[in-house]
Amino acid sequence: MRKFFNWLLSGIGGTIIAIIVPKILDSYFNEPFLWNKVLWCWDKLKLFFSINIPLWIAILMIIAVFIAIKIFRIVKRMPKEPKFVNYREDSFDGFFWRWEWHKKEDEKYEVKDLIICCPIDKTSLSPHAHSFVCPKCKKTYNYGNLYIRRDVEVLIEDKIRNGTYLGG
Ligand SMILES: [Zn+2]
Repeated sequence: MRKFFNWLLSGIGGTIIAIIVPKILDSYFNEPFLWNKVLWCWDKLKLFFSINIPLWIAILMIIAVFIAIKIFRIVKRMPKEPKFVNYREDSFDGFFWRWEWHKKEDEKYEVKDLIICCPIDKTSLSPHAHSFVCPKCKKTYNYGNLYIRRDVEVLIEDKIRNGTYLGG
């Protein structure tokens, strides 16, 4: 049923366009002088503004415009995320590191889920007793305790402070 209505509507619309558009183009190109063209445009403009729109459609349009303005203002007021939240991986001390950013209650950001990765294939390393092992290339690294993690966080923060993180 819906399909039939769509078909019917597009049929009617197509017919109207097919009849009106050539007529408009025809009358436009038949005008010999520029002034007549201006008058012609003015006529069509008047015609456009004299179209009868049902009141409920006009009201709906006004409401839609108000809602759009409201949404635009809310979005504009929302604080933008700082650029560095896209900075989430880098190499330090010969290792590859990946992390996330966490926004604290005081609106400041901190490094979260810092992961040490294999410098060869960038796979996250698995912790073993006193080392880290790459599950992919099986290489063992004696590196990556909590103290060093804090060092890497400091290096990340440093790069953001002096803007060098932008260069990659
Ligand atoms: Zn590896």
